[in-house]
This record gives sequence, C-alpha cells and structure tokens, in this order.
Amino acid sequence: MRTRFAPSPTGPLHLGHAYAAILAHDMARAAGGEFLLRIEDIDRARARPEWEALIYEDLAWLGLSWEPPVMRQSARLPAYRAALDSLWARGLLYPCACRRRDIEEAARAPQEGAPQHGPDGLVYPGTCRPAAAPSGPLPADRALRLDMARAWASIGPAPMHFIETGAGPAGETGQIAIRREQALSGIGDIVLARRDMGTSYHLSVVIDDAAQGITHVTRGADLFEATAIHVLLQRLLGLPTPLYHHHRLIRDEHGRRLAKRDDARAIRKYREDGLSPAEIRAMIGL
Ligand code: GLU
Repeated sequence: MRTRFAPSPTGPLHLGHAYAAILAHDMARAAGGEFLLRIEDIDRARARPEWEALIYEDLAWLGLSWEPPVMRQSARLPAYRAALDSLWARGLLYPCACRRRDIEEAARAPQEGAPQHGPDGLVYPGTCRPAAAPSGPLPADRALRLDMARAWASIGPAPMHFIETGAGPAGETGQIAIRREQALSGIGDIVLARRDMGTSYHLSVVIDDAAQGITHVTRGADLFEATAIHVLLQRLLGLPTPLYHHHRLIRDEHGRRLAKRDDARAIRKYREDGLSPAEIRAMIGL
C-alpha cells in the first residue's frame, strides 16, 4: 500500500489537513506500506516557500515521516505537457478564450435550460468548442479544454468505475460507476491546462498519483465528485486507477469546512499554544 498527502503551500495547515495527513500516514503504516508527500504548487501566484517549509515542520511535529523524495508539482511541467501533447494529437483538446463572466452569461442564456454545476463550477456551455478537432501544434499560451464527447467516444465500451473504500458526501461507497450522461452533462468540457499554469489540478493529480505509484488515494469527501474526472483521465492516458478513500471533513462550530483562512485552527497555532500531537489526534478523532 502506498498513500500520499498532497497539500498546496498556499497557507498554514489546519486541523483538516492534519486529519488527511494522519489518516494517509496511519493507513500506510498499519499495512506495512509507504506514505509519500507531494507539494501541489502549480499555482505559482499563491504558492510560497515559507508555507512549504511550515508544512514539513508541522508534519514532523505531528510525528509523521514520509518516504523521500518529496514530489513538487512545479518541477513536473514537462510530464504535464507530454500528456497534453498526446491528448491534443488525438483531437481531444481545444483552446478556450472564455472568461468566467462569459461562461456565466452563456450558461444563463434561456436556450441553455437550467445552468448545470459540476465539480469545477458551471458546466461549460461549449462556446469555443470547434466543430472539427483543431490541428497544428498545441497552443502553449492558451487555456485548453477537454472535448468530453470526443473523449468519451475515444475510450471504448468497457464500463468505467472506481472502488471507494471510504465514503462520498452522500455515503457513496463500494464500486462507483461513471456514466456517459454524467460525464457529458454533469462534468462537460473541463479545463485541463490553465493559461497561467500550463496544467490544472485534475491533470496534475492524475499524472502524479500514477508517477508516485499511489495505490490508495485518501482525501476529503469534497473531492469525491472530481474522481469521475480523474478516472476518465486515467483511461485516456493509459494510467492505472488507484483505490479511493474519501474521508469526512473537519468542520468549525458553525458546520463550515475549514479553509486556509482559519488561522485559529492552524497546526502551528496549537503547537505554539503548547498542545501535544496526541491532543491534536484526540481533537480530530484519530
Ligand atoms: N492539493 C489538494 C488540496 O490541498 C489535495 C488534492 C488531492 O488530495 O487530490 O486540497
């Protein structure tokens, strides 16, 4: 068994991160497996070296150790580019110039019916989707979207599913099927390369979980819906599908999930206040 913790260095780790990290660590240790770390720093505008340094400090203080090397996504752009090149050559991508506001307006147009929300927000109404797959070299300085209908048609008839060993937000567990209708109208043409990043969360996470040989992806239930995208990308890129273990989210006293802004619940704060790692584990029920 190989698990991972994949934080973004865009703020202090809080109790929700501690839960995710400890769970992945303990699962691997209990099975005699390995626990790996990956720094998800593709958002260069928000990632900071000081937050990355604090991640190592907090995890070590919590008593967690990980198998070297640490993977850093900012060093992985050639791998993402190779995957984009392959999808582009197969006619499954197209450039998109829409801004968020354009998408909101197009999705609200009366002929579109009720706007559909997917794992990435509004389902793209298809404004920039070309009738024929674009040719020529991959445009490096544009946002690239996956043509979901073409992508689905290219993967063949084998049923698509993944195994959930934890639970989704509505208790989904066991074998989870992914259906064409859900992919086309519930997910749609998602962005695989942002103009400012040359990649996206979905593309990077799938390529890197495979590159690190992760067998069990453990993460918050808020990412359950995105798993259909990840399984589809694995099929398109010829990568194995790991087991998925989505876990509950740690919430504040108002029932809101913790975010980076919740500095009061930052691990560093508890550390400075003199709490012990055992007390952190008790607070989050691990
Ligand atoms: N980097 C993501 C986060 O900070 C986690 C991604 C994942 O576990 O798939 O929430």
